Amino acid sequence: MHPTGNLVADTICRTAELGLTITDAADAGTLTIINAEPVDVADTCPDCAMPGVKRDHIRRRLVDLPVVGFPTRLNVRVPRFTCTNPTCSRKIFHGLTRKSWTGN
Ligand SMILES: [Zn+2]
Repeated sequence: MHPTGNLVADTICRTAELGLTITDAADAGTLTIINAEPVDVADTCPDCAMPGVKRDHIRRRLVDLPVVGFPTRLNVRVPRFTCTNPTCSRKIFHGLTRKSWTGN
């Protein structure tokens, strides 16, 4: 990404680079909150490759940085799945696919 010089535009572009889509934004008084979801979601277990059943979502806070001088929080709604393989040791997994998310 080439910075545009517009911090709001750069923030939006950065979320796209992270594989996120912005779903909502809010002014919470002293804080701007940006809510996002991953674009690509994998519903297969990373250990046994069996498909999972959607269980719930968790909210992860990724950054807490000032944008245009205002504190901004990026919250990501991450889907979680239950592995359907009864012999698998992993019972729950998240649907994130990117290496930058999973640390793999
Ligand atoms: Zn599994």
